[in-house]
Amino acid sequence: MTGKSVFSPSADHDVDLFVIGAGSGGVRAARIAGNYGARVMVAEEFRVGGTCVIRGCVPKKLLVYASRFAHEFEDAAGFGWTVPETSFNWSTLIANKDREIDRLEAAYVANLERSKVKIVRSRAVMEDAHTVRLANGDKVRAATILIATGGWPHMGPKIPGIEHAISSNEAFHLTELPKRIVIQGGGYIAVEFACIFAGLGSKVTLVYRGDNILRGFDDDVREHLRTEMQAAGITVTCGHTVDAIEKTGDAYAVKLSGGTSVPADKVMFAIGRRPNCMGIGSETLGIRCHEHGGIEVDEYSRTSVPNVYAVGDVTNRVNLTPFAIREGHAFADNVFGGKDIKVDHSQVPTAVFSEPELGVIGLTEAQAREKHPVLDVFKASFRPMKGTLSGRASRVFMKLLVDGATDRVVGCHIAGPEAGEMIQLIGIAFRMGATKADFDATVAVHPTMAEELVTMRTPAFSYGRKAAE
Ligand code: NDP
Repeated sequence: MTGKSVFSPSADHDVDLFVIGAGSGGVRAARIAGNYGARVMVAEEFRVGGTCVIRGCVPKKLLVYASRFAHEFEDAAGFGWTVPETSFNWSTLIANKDREIDRLEAAYVANLERSKVKIVRSRAVMEDAHTVRLANGDKVRAATILIATGGWPHMGPKIPGIEHAISSNEAFHLTELPKRIVIQGGGYIAVEFACIFAGLGSKVTLVYRGDNILRGFDDDVREHLRTEMQAAGITVTCGHTVDAIEKTGDAYAVKLSGGTSVPADKVMFAIGRRPNCMGIGSETLGIRCHEHGGIEVDEYSRTSVPNVYAVGDVTNRVNLTPFAIREGHAFADNVFGGKDIKVDHSQVPTAVFSEPELGVIGLTEAQAREKHPVLDVFKASFRPMKGTLSGRASRVFMKLLVDGATDRVVGCHIAGPEAGEMIQLIGIAFRMGATKADFDATVAVHPTMAEELVTMRTPAFSYGRKAAE
């Protein structure tokens, strides 16, 4: 659909918008601007689709699906099925995954072309606020520039043998499934890949420097996930770092702080990602960056140079695909459609595709305690119905945090099957300001796991109640 445009194409420029980077944010912005009639060029030096489509969310979720079949086959027996001996072929999975990524990339390209966006397969560097230089030396004059260059895995300090470590980028293209893998990190990527590899049959050691994985998440959820991961055979080694990687024939000896050595066929680091803000001319233009990295932007995604904008991971706001898309869309609507849209970066529902999966929104218990003097904590831990016949011991954990003063639900934390799907819907209730009374008044869907969210009646714990009453 073509929107109503408010800008006038500039005769002084070759294009109205030049987008650097064809990831989630850049592609959305380019398409929407194109639909407003802007002349748009997007430069991409790798593949159209960016981290999410090419080497992030999408291929990761396909690997997550693959990793969960082992449990399904085992669980089937309790329901009367005889499953013949199963085997797993990594090459088939990777080939099928690659085919799907090719299909998606082609769809992204087709969508851009439908919006009349010109794609140039090149690195692009800003020379001044209106000039972009391509790798072949060509220069393009642009009225507006959008930086959407995303982020890149950070590999940490240069420890001995760091050249042997892979990041998530390479994990998607291994020629074979590692029998033993050491993964360093305790965030989204480390935890998700630990569960993927373990589910597919690798022996996994997760090495995390802090006292428990997923810092920033609710402590009960962190503990629950760690216990479940350990029960699934993953060795979770907290309080340590990888200090050196020694090659020993075809394998590696992974030296941990404290002196232990762990044998491995692959070593993966997932210790955060850094915004791709260097080498694109931002220094030349004097574009301001945050101390913690990332291009500084205002609420309209405008950088310190007025006609240059930035969206997505390169701005290091909320580094999740849906935000890059929203920021890119809002940018195009504002600049080319005359709208006034600010992206709300609060109340973010998020999922970790671990095993079990996590779905969370709002405050953790520790955060809620600081903010709300009277706080009711509702908790449920139960074995899902499927486990009764399958014999699987995994439990589901749910927690609701309720502000005693307003009855508003200020935090919801779920660990269990399809937690990501559940938290998406809880997110709507959350935005609408749902109270615990609203949850209680909602009729349960029986028998489901999610019904527990509307049937928890007695707080496991209340803070500040006595003082308030
Ligand atoms: P995170 O920032 O989530 O986690 C980084 C981890 O590495 C933390 O545990 C951190 O420890 C640890 N760490 C950082 N520096 C070092 C170091 N020098 N030595 C040892 N450990 C270190 O980053 P990820 O790489 O996991 O993911 C990047 C981002 O990608 C995420 O933040 C998220 O925004 C996004 N993402 C989202 C997904 C989803 O929505 N499901 C999936 C995958 C990625 P500490 O906690 O102590 O700082």
